[in-house]
Amino acid sequence: MKCPNHDVELVKKEIIYGYPASGKDYSNVLLGGCCVMPNSPRYGYECPVDKEVYLMKDGKLVTEREEED
Ligand SMILES: [Zn+2]
Repeated sequence: MKCPNHDVELVKKEIIYGYPASGKDYSNVLLGGCCVMPNSPRYGYECPVDKEVYLMKDGKLVTEREEED
């Protein structure tokens, strides 16, 4: 899976919800916020260049910003 903006492979990471616990290592996961919806994604894709997070939606990569529109 390549980033649409950079010629690099996106890093697939599990999305966790809820408030992050202090002292825990979250470098290998994505923080999805405290709101969990039934259709909340389980995994996201992080660009190693700018740390933009993409979600797979209807077979396409979208950013979290775009999904809110
Ligand atoms: Zn990128």
